[in-house]
Formats: sequence, C-alpha cells, structure tokens
Amino acid sequence: MELYNTLTRKKEALKPVKKGVVGFYSCGPTVYNYAHIGNLRTYVFADTLQRALEYEGYKVKRVMNITDVGHLTSDADSGEDKFEKAAALSQKSPQEIAKFYTQAFLRDIKELNIKKPKIIVPATKTIKEQIAIIKKLVAKGYAYQTSLAVYFEVAKFKNYGQLSGQSLSEKLTAARDDVVEDEEKKNVADFALWFKLAGRHQKHIMHWSSPWGEGFPGWHIECSAISSKYLGQPFDIHTGGVDHIGTHHTNEIAQSEAATGKPLARVWMHGEFLLIDSNKMAKSEGNFITLQTLKDKGFSPLDYRYLCLTAHYRSRLNFFWESLAAARNAYENLARLIVESQAEKRVSKKTAFKSLTNKFQASVIDDLDLPGALAVLWEAVKSQNLSGKDKIKLVKDFDKILGLELLKAVQAKAAIPSAVLSIAKKRQVLREQKKFAEADKLRLELAKKGYEVKDSSGGGFSLLRIK
Ligand code: AMP
Ligand code: ZN
Repeated sequence: MELYNTLTRKKEALKPVKKGVVGFYSCGPTVYNYAHIGNLRTYVFADTLQRALEYEGYKVKRVMNITDVGHLTSDADSGEDKFEKAAALSQKSPQEIAKFYTQAFLRDIKELNIKKPKIIVPATKTIKEQIAIIKKLVAKGYAYQTSLAVYFEVAKFKNYGQLSGQSLSEKLTAARDDVVEDEEKKNVADFALWFKLAGRHQKHIMHWSSPWGEGFPGWHIECSAISSKYLGQPFDIHTGGVDHIGTHHTNEIAQSEAATGKPLARVWMHGEFLLIDSNKMAKSEGNFITLQTLKDKGFSPLDYRYLCLTAHYRSRLNFFWESLAAARNAYENLARLIVESQAEKRVSKKTAFKSLTNKFQASVIDDLDLPGALAVLWEAVKSQNLSGKDKIKLVKDFDKILGLELLKAVQAKAAIPSAVLSIAKKRQVLREQKKFAEADKLRLELAKKGYEVKDSSGGGFSLLRIK
C-alpha cells in the first residue's frame, strides 16, 4: 500500500515495524464542544484508512486520545484552557463538560459508521506517563523551568521543522506576533510541557502534583505519552488534520524523539480541511455545522459520509448544502440500482468480477483514492457484464472500506413493494416530462398505498412509509 507521508513529502510503500500489524495513532477530539462536520471529516478519513488496512490483510492496533485538559484557546501557549473557559460559561465542572462532549462525539462517530478505535484514552488518565516524559526532557537538558511553566527548548532539537518544512527562523518570524504571556521564556517558539498553578492559570480547577509543583500538562505531551504507552516507539501511522502539522505534531515529534532518541512515527498522514464559505470550519470561528444540524435538515449521517468519500482526503472540500443534497441523491440512486440489479439474471462474463476487484483495490492502495474506489463501485453496479448476484458480492466487499452500509440501505429499499416502486418511477418520468398533473395523480395513488414520495433536488426520489 502506498501512502503519502507528510514527513518525507512523498508516497511510500507501507512497511510496518512488525510484520502484518499496523500501529496506528489518531489525534482525537478536544471535547469542550460538539465536534463539527469538519472534525468528523478527519475521523471519516482515519476510519477509511483503518478499514483499507484491514482490507489489505493487516491487523490494525488503533489508539486515539481524547483531549480533556490543557488545550489552550490558542494552539500555542497563550489564552485560557478551553475546558476551564467552557466550565466557567456553563457553571459545570471541566470534567462534566468533557464527559458530556465525549459521549456526544462517540454517538456522532457511531452514526457515521466510524469504527470506534479499540483504545481510547483521555489525557487526564495518563498524567503520570506525561510527567515521566517531561522529567526525561528536563534531565537531558531539552526542557527548562520558569516561574509559570516548564518549556521545551526548540533550539536544542535539531530537526524541529522537519514535518512542516519550516525552519526555526521562519517559525520565529511567524511567531513574532504571538502573545507571549511568559517573559522568562527563552524563545517565543518554545512550547509548554507543564503549566504551573501560577499567573493566568493560578485558579485552574484541574491540577496534579509534579516535580515542578501543582499544575497541568500542556496540550502536546498527552499524545506523546498515550501513543508510546500503547504502541511503543516508533509506531507505523499517525493521523490528524493538516492544522496539526505546524504546531501540535511538530511538538509531539520534538518531545518524543528528544526523550527517547527514537523516531515517534514512521508515516504522518493529514486530512485536508472542510471549508465553509472558503474558510476553515472551526469551533473557535463559530461558523460550524454539527451532525445534528444535518439531521435536523433531513439528511442522514451516511449522506455526509458519502459526501466525504467523493473528495480525496488530501483535497480541501468546500461544504455546500447543494453538494450534500447531491450526495444523498447519489447514495439513494446507488441503493436503488443495487435493489434493481438483484433481479438481473444474466451470467457474469468471466473476467468482469476480477477486473473490477483489481481496479477497486488499485485505487485503495494508491494513497487511499476513495473517489476512485467509489467510481469503481458505480461501474460495478451499472455493469452489463455481471450477474445480479456477483454485483451484490462486490458491493458487500467494497463496502468494507466505504462503510456506507449499502446492504442495509438496500434492504430498506427492497422492503418497498415493487408495484409501489414502479408507480414512483412512472411518476418520476412524468415529472421529467413536466407532466405535473399526471404526476400528482400518481402521488395520490402512492399515498393510498401508504407511501409518501419525496423529491430530491437532483431529480431522484425517496419513499417513506406513512401507514
Ligand atoms: P479538535 O477537536 O479541535 O482537537 O480537532 C479534531 C480534529 O479535527 C483534528 O484532527 C483537527 O485537525 C481536525 N479539524 C479541525 N478543523 C477541521 C476542518 N475544518 N476540516 C477537517 N478537519 C478539521
Ligand atoms: Zn495529538
């Protein structure tokens, strides 16, 4: 399998540390608010990657953190802890906030048919391990203390900008305008490993004792601690969104590698942004849409999953309601075509099945080209060279990666009597011919049979049982 590695800026053949097993770490959500559909795009990407690896025969050991402390309102070291801020606004404890939004996140991923990573670890459950890494960094001279915090000294780490491609001096220029809240910091680009209960964080509710006094960990150290605890070092694949490249992942690499002298992960993969009105969708920007909003507008979470699959994970995706409607339409049409194909009696041409399987697989192993894989699914369903039975076999196989629950969708469609379906289709043809009065008569006929027909913007329809 060839995967694009942000670290080396090229596609590389995957060679797991341990033959046949892939150690896979994904940065998880910061649970101070609902996940937005941009965040969820990144988790759909990681899910399809896991499924693709399993499809290729690997055993996947997947670990994800839950950030429930230490992520400040800026990804750097200024601002408040997002949890303490949300707690103050809602009169709840930071722990209650984290628990509530963790559950909401787990519901969201379930509805998107995202496989839950086997190991999910909240940052607050590994404070001991985080402190152990910081102690090593202090002992090795990579970290220093001020009266407010313990910092990682970036100038001491040779390859600091390797992941982002940004040299330290470029990073410093970029960081020039950052708010520096600690005058004792040696360098603005140094990042916090541990915050003391001092200065702005004097009244921080969540705190633990450490060799540097009571305090709480900086955001990045949790991922270093959790990934190495469960996967060892180096492990195979690390994922996140592209916004993590410059700061969070760069800092993860620096602290883990400085502490152990070993690389953290071999392949770094980053999902591109979901944009709205050409801007990054972000919780902090208030321009975000949640899965619940989609459902309130009548979409199913799998309509959104389908939309995600239409764009490569390394391409930006601009969110429009019209594109979501088109995705729903395509998804419904696909399910309908599959229902219809079940009745097809033709015999498969000899090579057709194999050549479609090969084509599908070729897309998947080419850096997870799922738009390509989806196109092969359509080709299979429309094929004149395959029997209905073989089509269903392929759909079942391809859906192991796409995760669209296509056979369930087909069962739901198949439960509609064929007489009802054929009236609905006749009505659709009449509508296309703009014979609306006749089409309306058929709508009434469908209602009498207990079905309401709903037209979608792309010219398709769906049937809802009303009695
Ligand atoms: P957070 O909950 O803010 O820690 O983010 C969770 C994940 O969503 C991270 O991997 C981010 O990189 C990713 N992410 C944040 N915003 C977007 C976006 N607009 N589109 C895609 N992924 C995003
Ligand atoms: Zn992380």
